[in-house]
Amino acid sequence: MHYDYLIVGSGLSGATFAHEAMKAGKSVLVVEKRDHIGGNIYCERTEGINVHKYGAHIFHTDDKQVWDYVNDLVEFNNFINSPIANYNGLILNMPFNMNTFSKLWGISTPKEAKAIIDEQKKEITGEPQNLEEQAISLVGRDVYEKLIKGYTEKQWGRSCTELPAFIIKRLPVRFTYDNNYFSDRYQGIPIGGYNAIIEKLLAGADIRTGVDYLASRAELDALADTVVYTGMIDAYYDYCFGDLEYRSLRLESEVLDEEDHQGIAVVNYTDRETPWTRIIEHKHFEREASPKTIITKEYPADFEKGMEPYYPINDERNGALFAQYKAKGDAEANVLFLGRLAEYKYYDMDDAIAAVLNRTESMWR
Ligand code: FAD
Ligand code: UDP
Repeated sequence: MHYDYLIVGSGLSGATFAHEAMKAGKSVLVVEKRDHIGGNIYCERTEGINVHKYGAHIFHTDDKQVWDYVNDLVEFNNFINSPIANYNGLILNMPFNMNTFSKLWGISTPKEAKAIIDEQKKEITGEPQNLEEQAISLVGRDVYEKLIKGYTEKQWGRSCTELPAFIIKRLPVRFTYDNNYFSDRYQGIPIGGYNAIIEKLLAGADIRTGVDYLASRAELDALADTVVYTGMIDAYYDYCFGDLEYRSLRLESEVLDEEDHQGIAVVNYTDRETPWTRIIEHKHFEREASPKTIITKEYPADFEKGMEPYYPINDERNGALFAQYKAKGDAEANVLFLGRLAEYKYYDMDDAIAAVLNRTESMWR
């Protein structure tokens, strides 16, 4: 059979594209190099618990169109992410809010908290030049030292003075007693886990798992008019301009013979010495009842070929390198590059869906 589209990768981007194409009456073949569909949102059911196999995923968005889109596929629960931080045994609320400030400084009002932070941020004059200066000018040195410095340096494998300021701008600072990590209007976890989203998006598609497109390119290209590629763009072009950098993670999961290990889905370890950045306890995402529990420790890791390229590193060098690959990609007549790896963007799930919907909106009209 000859297809309209060959879609490389069955993550949220490839699956959303497949769904839209099929709605427009197009035929699609999806190839996926892993032995399962779903990309990084894949969940594995173990001991009656949905385990977020490639790291904790919490759906949150301000985009009503995207929220309606996913809710047409699955039902969401009312999970709100309110992680805690463990700094050498001191438990503090995240994101940075009045609960955090009152425990740190023994104060109770927004006015008192602001006065302390205003005093501490005086050490930064002028426009913040790096992540450390940005963080201190947002929340002061105390919070920076206890909640940001260690975590960030572990996560990114470099000093906060060498990291771009924008990374930290993702995190809210609030002078209210509100532990909701996200400021978006809509939030939740799909009831039954994320796999149902991908299964629904791909219903009707031909799917081949365990197939690496790059290993049988010519043969696969011959099967379709257009290729939609959601893998690493540098790999697609055989690294001709050089390697893009990524951060990776080592995820170590354990089944524990106890009902509740940490009382919450996410605990960040913000000191420098603990080698992991977070411990996820999966059952809390869906309040699953089980006499056992499953936890995953996240250890940041330098990316090397063969590992999972979890996070693009959007600094100047990589930005310039990606621009070269992008120019080459834009000139292709029959190949589209979509998703977190092909567009080398720090897309959250809602951004990934929105980006595909934007591209496909007028494609078949
Ligand atoms: P991916 O999910 O990476 O899918 C790409 C797919 O292509 C993969 O299945 C891969 O195996 C396949 N592939 C690649 N190359 C080939 C090839 N040569 N041949 C065949 N197949 C190939 N977003 C949120 O909104 N909330 C969160 O809480 C959140 N947490 C995250 C935590 C972590 C640790 C990570 C890494 C990401 C998180 N995200 C979160 C982002 C979310 O995972 C992405 O937005 C989403 O997975 C993007 O989907 P994608 O299809 O673009 O990429
Ligand atoms: N961060 C931090 N302390 C924390 C959590 C996050 O300093 O306890 C910083 C860190 O630099 C991280 C950034 O905030 O890279 C963004 O965090 P977020 O949780 O949004 O990142 P994710 O890993 O989920 O993409």
